Amino acid sequence: MRFTDEHLQLRRTVHQFVEQHINPHVDAWEQAGAFPAHEVFRHAGKLGLLGVNKPEAYGGMGLDYSYQMVVTEELGGCRCGSIPMALGVQTDMATPALARWGSDELRREFLAPAIAGEAVAAIAVSEASGGSDVAAIKTTARKDGGDYVINGSKMWITNAAQADWLCLLVNTSDGAPHANKTLVVVPTALPGVQIGPKIDKLGMRASDTCPVFFEEVRVPQRHRIGEEGTGFMMQMVQFQEERLCGAVGTVRGMDRLIDQTIDYCKERHTFGQPLIANQVVHFRMAELKTEVEALRSLCYRAVEDHVAGGDVTMLASMAKLKAGRLAREVSDACLQYWGGMGYTWENPAARSYRDSRLLSIGAGADEIMLGIISKLMGILPGKKKR
Ligand SMILES: Cc1cc2nc3c(=O)[nH]c(=O)nc-3n(C[C@H](O)[C@H](O)[C@H](O)COP(=O)(O)OP(=O)(O)OC[C@H]3O[C@@H](n4cnc5c(N)ncnc54)[C@H](O)[C@@H]3O)c2cc1C
Repeated sequence: MRFTDEHLQLRRTVHQFVEQHINPHVDAWEQAGAFPAHEVFRHAGKLGLLGVNKPEAYGGMGLDYSYQMVVTEELGGCRCGSIPMALGVQTDMATPALARWGSDELRREFLAPAIAGEAVAAIAVSEASGGSDVAAIKTTARKDGGDYVINGSKMWITNAAQADWLCLLVNTSDGAPHANKTLVVVPTALPGVQIGPKIDKLGMRASDTCPVFFEEVRVPQRHRIGEEGTGFMMQMVQFQEERLCGAVGTVRGMDRLIDQTIDYCKERHTFGQPLIANQVVHFRMAELKTEVEALRSLCYRAVEDHVAGGDVTMLASMAKLKAGRLAREVSDACLQYWGGMGYTWENPAARSYRDSRLLSIGAGADEIMLGIISKLMGILPGKKKR
């Protein structure tokens, strides 16, 4: 990965944004269990950070995905996982399909405000009956005149409490599960859309995650993204940037936690010497730094291939798998060396331990990543037909 002056300038802009508009408030937002998404997104939008790789016609910068990667990596400087996740939903999860396949009218109405930071978006795929098996979702949209009428529910929807619109995956026919799905943009203010109560989570405390219910919700059919029946395919493509974003987003945070832990272990003395002087401790820190560098390289390689137009399903799945596992390893190992302090709620290792646990579950659990990698390796046994 060769970074240009533009990449470096963008990195500085994100760094300033994080230090000015996010980090001073993180503790309060984590404690309140919420953050002001519209305010934060407006600041990000003004700086151009919500549309770095989106078309200029809708207010984006029209740059390639390596620039978006720089934004994601630098947002890892936030002192919590919640805000980068909320911003990542906007840039890498709820809008890629709309940007790529949405009609001009739909992109003017929904993508442009999302890029400007005037609207908050959410991606609504998972359901209570199962999130890993996307093909098995049950929410339906039937045609009635010029509308779709939507019934069903979604679960675990990030940004839902503050979202202006959802990128919603629904079944538009009874056909084969990979060919009966459609992505539809659904404004949350429509009659029949109900946002459920915020879910009390282990981590990502400042991020709002809610169920969403749909009862006879009427949406014009022109809100459909692309062709009817292609939603599953589009979501699988959209997942690649979601997974790259998840992986890249962990790297800086892990670096920071390792550095903070090293500083603490230099100050903290046991048995007459600093903790860091114990070989088991400094070797562990060296080992973790090495692993983080390996992950960074894997992420950069995947992004380079993505920018070159290659299919990065394999590398993005590997990066996501590795990032989820390494984030758990780093936070657990670092927490250990903070001793009792590591077991307190506000401790950085404790927050990282709670927040990072999500990465092995959300956006496709580790086992789903292993399934994809196995399939692409040609070693996944085929399902027997009944
Ligand atoms: C904080 C948070 C935010 C989220 N945000 C969003 C969002 O914005 N939008 C959205 O659509 N979804 C969101 N999700 C949902 C998330 O993507 C799902 O939780 C995830 O896909 C797993 O689905 P599930 O919880 O239904 O687990 P299940 O599908 O029930 O799976 C449970 C566990 O079983 C294992 N497993 C599953 N399948 C297999 C298999 N084939 N082989 C072996 N093991 C397997 C995995 O370990 C998995 O964790 C969010 C979840 C959380 C917790």
